[in-house]
Amino acid sequence: MTNKILILFIAVAGYISVSSFVRETTNTRNKKVINTVVIDPGHGGQDAGARGQFSTEKEICLGVSLKLGDMIKKEFPDLNILFTRETDTYPELHDRAKFANESKGDLYLCIHVNAAGGRRKAEVIGYKTVTYYTGKGASRKKRTKKVPQYRYTNLPSAAKGTETYIWGAHRSEDKELAIIENAPMLREENFEKNYGNIDVNSPEFIAISLLKTKQYFKRSATLAGFIQDEFVKVGRVDRDVRQRGIGIWVLQATAMPSVLVETGFISNPEEEQYLNSPEGQEELSACIVRALKNYIAWLEQRQNGAGADTPPQGYSSNLSFLQQVENAEKNRPE
Ligand SMILES: [Zn+2]
Repeated sequence: MTNKILILFIAVAGYISVSSFVRETTNTRNKKVINTVVIDPGHGGQDAGARGQFSTEKEICLGVSLKLGDMIKKEFPDLNILFTRETDTYPELHDRAKFANESKGDLYLCIHVNAAGGRRKAEVIGYKTVTYYTGKGASRKKRTKKVPQYRYTNLPSAAKGTETYIWGAHRSEDKELAIIENAPMLREENFEKNYGNIDVNSPEFIAISLLKTKQYFKRSATLAGFIQDEFVKVGRVDRDVRQRGIGIWVLQATAMPSVLVETGFISNPEEEQYLNSPEGQEELSACIVRALKNYIAWLEQRQNGAGADTPPQGYSSNLSFLQQVENAEKNRPE
């Protein structure tokens, strides 16, 4: 009797360890879609960014970014979270991009605060008589006229809400620029190992560059959409996903999907309160974390075969080459 129980016990224990081993190997077969997230709090140090009535953009950017980092760590403990700055310093923009590229970031989150110029209201408060002259020599005449006197009041801008920017290569010059800008990223350490020895002027190089740009664009646009969706759910005013071809240098210099979140308007007194409050900063961070969750799920779905990245237009004839590029991208060393 006891022997039978012992055998049963060994069998059950054996089954459990074998099945957990099987489960483990199945899990590791699914490569993680994201390993490293780089958070970039805008401005800092001597660059205060936009100014409100009692706060500056650089302080809010840092506050939201640090909260966001903590929340991501809690939600995804195995993600590597890096910051371009964690204190009131100003790393140069190219150093931020270089740091993100060298850290092999899979995602670049740029946190900023918006500002809109206030309206200047003019009121007539009276009239003043002024003297002026016309003509020359003997025909010179003294004249007078009444001119209105104004009082100007600065009214804060009513603009409010969030918008999320992605870098959009939508004009042909931008695309050419993209290829040039992508050159440093394609000079990455393992580039030759991954892609072979490619001449930067070759059609192959241009194809890879366009493919990368397109992949990053699609991923950035998808994440940006998820972020705005979450802001809408908590009642933030939705100013939508916007593309900017110029002016957001870090977005195009980072060789990874990247978005820039304009969390709200410091120029709007009500929003300035919100942006500085712990509740506001937590709400904004929680929205971005939920969007990140959706983004990771979306990437996992794609990894499992649902809708692979399509090659850029004009290069579809070179599918086998592009397939190699895609595979090299997937097998990129950690
Ligand atoms: Zn800014």
